[in-house]
Formats: sequence, structure tokens, C-alpha cells
Amino acid sequence: MSDWFTIDTVDDDTYIISEYRHWEETHCYLINGTDYSLLIDTGLGICNIHDEVMKKTNKPIIAVATHIHWDHIGGHRYFPDFYAHKDELHWLNGGFPLTLEQIKEMVMDRCEAPSGYDENTYEFFQGTPTRILDDGDAIDLGGRVITVLHTPGHSPGHMCFWEEDRKYLFTGDLVYKDTLFAYYPSTDPLSYLISLEKVAALPVERVFPAHHSLDIKPEILGRMRNAFRELKAEGKLHHGTGVCEYGDWAVWL
Ligand SMILES: [Zn+2]
Ligand SMILES: [Zn+2]
Repeated sequence: MSDWFTIDTVDDDTYIISEYRHWEETHCYLINGTDYSLLIDTGLGICNIHDEVMKKTNKPIIAVATHIHWDHIGGHRYFPDFYAHKDELHWLNGGFPLTLEQIKEMVMDRCEAPSGYDENTYEFFQGTPTRILDDGDAIDLGGRVITVLHTPGHSPGHMCFWEEDRKYLFTGDLVYKDTLFAYYPSTDPLSYLISLEKVAALPVERVFPAHHSLDIKPEILGRMRNAFRELKAEGKLHHGTGVCEYGDWAVWL
């Protein structure tokens, strides 16, 4: 169980907590302010992320998921103080479009779960946030302010988090290397482009994705935006187009 999580250090008060024993290679981010810590995404929920987080902070912890998908809210049960976007509240309250069986299949797919883990105990987190977020909201941690960017496309209430002072952009599932998912019925390829326009216009110095390689540079934001612009110009930016490959990333439409 002890090697389920890997912790990497970004700087003195920012950490990456990764789950490399699942094929999605999910990354959660701990941002420590002087008053609060913010945990961006809480992983799959197979092991206790709260214990990991406590190794790196002694502040009260606020959790926030970039979006309400199983691989981002798995550990929410350990964090009663959590925020969510207004457009995905129904997914925390019985309205998620997949069944528990379907979700469980995704969670257990290509997953090196620790011995003794009982998948029958898996639950899809449901709950009521302590704060409802919208575009432009600020999360003040004391000495660090994180701005909420509503970036729909992968999901309707998807958020990226922007720390202007350090020029850090936490991109969730909007931007990562490997295959981006924009084919589910709840995705919206046209909104995806608008969201990429928004993040590519920022003076980003570090990109922190929710999955896969951490060797990712801000230049990818412009490349992805350009590719989506091209797809739109060619009339392909819609569900059913299939997988479009661009070398170090792809999008499944
Ligand atoms: Zn997702
Ligand atoms: Zn994800």
C-alpha cells in the first residue's frame, strides 16, 4: 500500500502526488498557502490520499476537483471541505451518466491495486460542496491566490486553476500528453476549443496536467489550440471524427 502514491516536489510549498500503478497515471497537486492548503484532485480513491497529504502540510485542507470524474474525486471522502463547479453539482447528487458498475470497470482497468484491496468497497463519491465555484473566482490560501478558470469541453464544469504569481497552470483533463477524451456524450468539442483559446492566451511558465507525462511545456497549449482550430476549419470538430494524432498527444472525438 505504501508505494501506491509517488510524491514529487515542485517548489517549497507545491507537491505532486501521483498514482503510477494505474494506467491513467493521475496527478493530484498540493498547494500550500500560509492559512490553507489546496488539494487539486483527489485521485482514484483506492488508497488513502489524506495520509499522503498530511506528510506535506499542517494547514486545514480544501479539496477541489478539476471536474467530477471518478479519477479526480476518489479521495474526496477524506476532505469534508471541498469546492465544486456549479455546472457539475448534479454529478455529485445522483445525476452522473454512468452506472457504478461502469465506473468500477474504468477504475479497475489496468490497475495494480494493492493486495487486499476489495473492489466491492469502491464507491462513486457523492456530496455537497462547501463552496460553489464559477469562472474568475479566487481561492485565497494566504500568500497564494488561485484563480478558477471555467474550461468546459472535456466535461461541462471542468476547471483549470491559474496561479498568476508563479505562472502555474493546473490543466486537469483539458491538457495532457497522450490521448485527450472528447468523445463522451457529456464532452463538447467546440467548447474544448474555446477553453484552449483561453489557456493558450495566458503567460504560463509551468503546465501541471492531471495525467501522464510531467515533461510537458507551455508551448503545447498553443499547439493544441492550433490543432483544434484546424479541426474546426475542416469541419471535423465534432463527435464521431475518431482519434486525431499529433505526435506527443492526440484527441479522441
Ligand atoms: Zn475526466
Ligand atoms: Zn482524468
